Amino acid sequence: MAKKNITKINQITLYCRLFFKAVRVAFGLTHNLPNLLSTLGRILKKNDSGYGRPSNGRRVDGKLYWHMHIPGYPSPAFDQLFRHWLAYNLGWISHPGLCMSYVAITKTCPLNCEHCFEWESINQPETVSEQEIIETVERLINLGATQIIFSGGEPVSRFPLLLRIVNHFHNHSVQLWINTSGIGLTTDRIKQLKKSGLTGIVFSLDHHDRQAHDRFRGREGCHRQVISSVKASSASGLATAFALCTTPDFVSEKNLEAYLQLATDLSLTFIQILEAKPLGKYAGQKVALEPSQKKLLEALYDRAAVSRSEHPLISYPEYHNRRYGCDGGKRHLYVDTEGRAFPCPFCKTVPVAIRDLTPSNLSTKWVCPNTSG
Ligand code: SF4
Repeated sequence: MAKKNITKINQITLYCRLFFKAVRVAFGLTHNLPNLLSTLGRILKKNDSGYGRPSNGRRVDGKLYWHMHIPGYPSPAFDQLFRHWLAYNLGWISHPGLCMSYVAITKTCPLNCEHCFEWESINQPETVSEQEIIETVERLINLGATQIIFSGGEPVSRFPLLLRIVNHFHNHSVQLWINTSGIGLTTDRIKQLKKSGLTGIVFSLDHHDRQAHDRFRGREGCHRQVISSVKASSASGLATAFALCTTPDFVSEKNLEAYLQLATDLSLTFIQILEAKPLGKYAGQKVALEPSQKKLLEALYDRAAVSRSEHPLISYPEYHNRRYGCDGGKRHLYVDTEGRAFPCPFCKTVPVAIRDLTPSNLSTKWVCPNTSG
């Protein structure tokens, strides 16, 4: 279960540890003390870069999480990201490197969601093999990724393969998540995934109301399945999140409060807010939120960002992009089942074969058309 409310003493201890870790890692990279101190000062100033605050983190299974794209601390994956980040800030490498990537591992899915962005390829013949997925993840690690989220289709529909892949990367400096509708998950499977080294599960839940969610997903029982799997996931010591596709019909103060309450009651670590887009099944439809609805979501994010309450932390990529610019193709990627990399799951204009990406060409491949959106 996620444990909230870090005490003042724990905060001081945490920042002292992070500071000494920074000094230790930085000394491994440079013995130039003035350079080291000015770099650490610059990093501390950049603390409000949209990547959350450690002091506002949530504890799960001995690790602290404060942003969905930053691995839980302490862990080898966190150390790896931290080292890379320091090296970049010290000017030793020319690119900030990836934080995370989605990797689609299947085209199979038993659902019929009204917003599906992969609708054209869903339930087409499976093309990606286990070896190809392993090679993709290895490439992403070489590009700096310390978090991988397996998606699809429904990743649980290839459960034995998923389990083997999670197991394969158990001792690597990377944390693995899955993004699922919950269909096909059982308590036993969740325990197996945790035992194999999975870090967390993102459950798609698009409405707190049972019937409304089931209607959205095109299948009865989806809401019930998510709720029971969320409980099993938290009880197994996995970081647990909801992904909410926000549509104009859903976004109101009343619905957001009810949704937040449900997530809080279930002790979730994160809620990931995604704005509906006219892509996939929504192509050609008016699904964009009104400015007033975006304001409501932004207010919810801002409230969670400073509160040390029992609420889950909120991840809201579109708000991040509006404030700081888009990190798609630089700090995060999406790789589909054909081995094509895109800046994110919703920006499919210019695919690049994952095998053609290198640390030095990564940040030059894409310019996001939605940055100012
Ligand atoms: S669960 Fe995901 S892949 Fe399956 S239909 Fe829904 S949105 Fe599409």
